[in-house]
Amino acid sequence: MYKISMVSLGCPKNQVDAEMMLSSLKNGGYEIAAEEAEADAIIINTCGFIEDAKKEAIENILEAARYKKTGKCRALIVTGCLAERYRDDVTEEIPEVDVCVGIGSNGRICDIVKNAIEGKKQNCYGEKYELDLNADRILGGYPFSTYLKVADGCDNCCTYCAIPKIRGRMRSRRIEDCVAEAKILAERGVKELIVVAQDTTAYGEDIYGKSMLPELLRELCKVEGLHWIRTLYTYPDRITDELLDTVASEEKIVKYFDIPIQHVNGEILKRMNRTGDYNTLSALIDKIRAKIPDVTIRTTLITGFPGETEEQFSELARFVKEKRFERLGCFTYSAEEGTVAAEFSDQIDEQTKVDRMENIMEQQLTVAAEKNEEKIGSVTEVLIEGWDDYIKCYFGRTPADAPDVDGKIFFMADRPLVLGDFVKVQINDCIDYDLLGELI
Ligand code: SF4
Repeated sequence: MYKISMVSLGCPKNQVDAEMMLSSLKNGGYEIAAEEAEADAIIINTCGFIEDAKKEAIENILEAARYKKTGKCRALIVTGCLAERYRDDVTEEIPEVDVCVGIGSNGRICDIVKNAIEGKKQNCYGEKYELDLNADRILGGYPFSTYLKVADGCDNCCTYCAIPKIRGRMRSRRIEDCVAEAKILAERGVKELIVVAQDTTAYGEDIYGKSMLPELLRELCKVEGLHWIRTLYTYPDRITDELLDTVASEEKIVKYFDIPIQHVNGEILKRMNRTGDYNTLSALIDKIRAKIPDVTIRTTLITGFPGETEEQFSELARFVKEKRFERLGCFTYSAEEGTVAAEFSDQIDEQTKVDRMENIMEQQLTVAAEKNEEKIGSVTEVLIEGWDDYIKCYFGRTPADAPDVDGKIFFMADRPLVLGDFVKVQINDCIDYDLLGELI
């Protein structure tokens, strides 16, 4: 049978799509090639929601295209958000690409690949809702930590965001389907389950008429074998008392909130088609910290949104200084064609966007280092992820660290340890975003 290779880019939700396609390909008799050079077909599962992501996707596509000359590759297939968003433009503008597959056709990947290898190259775009959210997966990444995608699409329609156009309206999975998958994942050895969607706090609104995230989390806590349950991509307006109480009261739920607020100036938020302002967001952060004292709050900000004045930016910088987020990411505004904000006449120049982003991240590095200093001498639980042969110690994450976006903890141990186990570590030092410690 044919060998395939898959490269998946972008966010955890896209990674889950890739894992589903890998599973159906494996069940379809394909072999997963160890090396891209051996593959008869290479699939690049792309991200495509902002400029940088598109560049990365094109780099990976051109990189893989080399194997059509140097390797066994007879079909280069592009799936994911870039494919869904740009469709035939992908094959027209990148002739190395043989087939472009929209997200609604992921379920037909077996036939698409076979046809492409055998020379029948046809782009495929099923309806977005055809994407099966309950399909089986072959897990990438660590076998003990993975994502649970509970919905796809988004109804919030922020003016700068292309995702609703790419992924469509929000479609939630039923609670029982999510719990059933969680049980399978736990039986397969998953101990940390990370709940994701474009807006996890909106989970269930489309099929149950109200947010069902608290209910879902409580059900997931009943799944044996899961040790940590983490939620990413919550929406500030939908952080309810019920959600706070659920997170505070359930031991398995890590005290971690990922709340992209994007900005704090009321006028800017309005133009983003978001609500709130400095005071409402400040009150929200204070409320979460009052309910869950040892909580870790991560946020994401955008600098250089059209029309952003020096005063409005200073307001944002002041908020970051005052609120001292445990974790923070900041991106420059990217004018995405087809979005409302890209049509705004008062676009900001690139250098100003970058200067403002760097200003925020400089501040945040200080805050993060100070917050890490405060942890020295304390003991934390750690999920062991690996061994660093260069510095000869183990590394892992604390409950305060989400994969890929947050820091790590590096620690010495006086005995061999098992990856995927949870241990207690005394924190002795820190370097920027990372912690150093020793096993106790
Ligand atoms: S909530 Fe997130 S995914 Fe949805 S439109 Fe806004 S930025 Fe995009």
